[in-house]
Amino acid sequence: MNCSGTDSDDDPYLTVAMAELDRFGTRVGCPVCENPIAAAVGTPSVPSRILRDRAIRAAVGDDVPVYGWRCRRHRSHDVRALAPAAFAPASYESTAAVVDGEVVDVAIPGPVFQRGASQ
Ligand SMILES: [Zn+2]
Repeated sequence: MNCSGTDSDDDPYLTVAMAELDRFGTRVGCPVCENPIAAAVGTPSVPSRILRDRAIRAAVGDDVPVYGWRCRRHRSHDVRALAPAAFAPASYESTAAVVDGEVVDVAIPGPVFQRGASQ
């Protein structure tokens, strides 16, 4: 059984990847165009199927907000650059996701995480 199913091939206009951060987390680079991302960090929504936790997926539906950035340099598609969970504030919860074929910890808002935990 293949449980990964996380490539975003069904939406060719959306790229979800890990942001390129320096080790202090102060400079953020777009994983696609490699330009610095000047926009403030936020919670761009990404397909919830990247999450490994089924309860959270079931609780949130198709999309889940994840701590990260959006690179606005791309006209033809949407690039969501996610932050490693370690960089997120304490109000976020770490959860495993598969991004670009790799298992990583991403950060989702505490209340969203709790919705999955209470299922
Ligand atoms: Zn970019």
